[in-house]
Amino acid sequence: MQIPRINSLGKIGQVDATQVPRFAGFGTFARLPQASEVTGDVDVAIVGVPFDAGVSFRPGARFGPAHIRESSRLLRPFNPGQNVSPFAQLQVVDAGDIAVNPFSIEEAVAGIYSGARELLERAGKLLTIGGDHTIALPLLRSLHDKIKEPITVLHFDAHLDTWDTYFGANLTHGTPFRRASEEGIIDKESSMHLGIRGPLYSTSDLSEDSVLGFQIVTSDHLDSEGSSGIIQRIHSRVGNKPVYISLDIDVLDPAFAPGTGTPEAGGWSSRELLRILRGLRGLDILGFDVVEVAPAYDNAQITGVAASHVIYDMLSLLCPQS
Ligand code: MN
Ligand code: MN
Repeated sequence: MQIPRINSLGKIGQVDATQVPRFAGFGTFARLPQASEVTGDVDVAIVGVPFDAGVSFRPGARFGPAHIRESSRLLRPFNPGQNVSPFAQLQVVDAGDIAVNPFSIEEAVAGIYSGARELLERAGKLLTIGGDHTIALPLLRSLHDKIKEPITVLHFDAHLDTWDTYFGANLTHGTPFRRASEEGIIDKESSMHLGIRGPLYSTSDLSEDSVLGFQIVTSDHLDSEGSSGIIQRIHSRVGNKPVYISLDIDVLDPAFAPGTGTPEAGGWSSRELLRILRGLRGLDILGFDVVEVAPAYDNAQITGVAASHVIYDMLSLLCPQS
């Protein structure tokens, strides 16, 4: 049977929900076409990385990609929050998953790197769904190979993820941005953490992080500066440099994202996060990841829905407003 799709502005879009109900059929992200269904240019490939061997607390983010896809069925074509129609203005495809070794972090990191490089030959940009935060390192490496200059990273997370080692392991979900900084991949003048909170090991966590090139915007800054203050701060630090956005869903308060491995109280609401993301319009965005969704701890798809809306607004940032 031919699947009825919304085709608009020459783009192959979502399965048409007026003809096939949203809860029917196979579930790609937002019911977009698979990569194999599109022959022409691809602006954005959404790809899952079901890997969580790098977690330090509650495991389960390997099931994140499937959960977010299932939670994204209700996304409609027009985004009034940004006045754009992302699936008409961009050719977006679901490229499936980069399947990697669940028993060897080193092998998995190498596999994610080569999978991302291969996808970047076809697609202008990648939006990667994790998986735990370990995957940000090979994703940044693959982008760095492409643009050949240090990358400004906007890292949304409760945690710094610039720790050194854990039980002697140097590739974990708590270390990707330290490794990337050591490798010269990160622009130390313009990178930022956003939404940081919760207990640390010691004050040296913060001083070492600063040397690695990040400015910290804490969760509390939202109370003192408001979302517009945070947005302004991002634009003045980043300017027109090419930027990569890495978003750990635990940047949200556990009330808005219970389904994650390392929850910390006192985070932003999903409304506050979406408002800050929409304020990033105008940045030169290279790509995105959304990580650490662990559905075993989710209830009623709260976390899956939050993640799918975050992804929707990320994609919308790439579309010119009419
Ligand atoms: Mn985190
Ligand atoms: Mn993280």
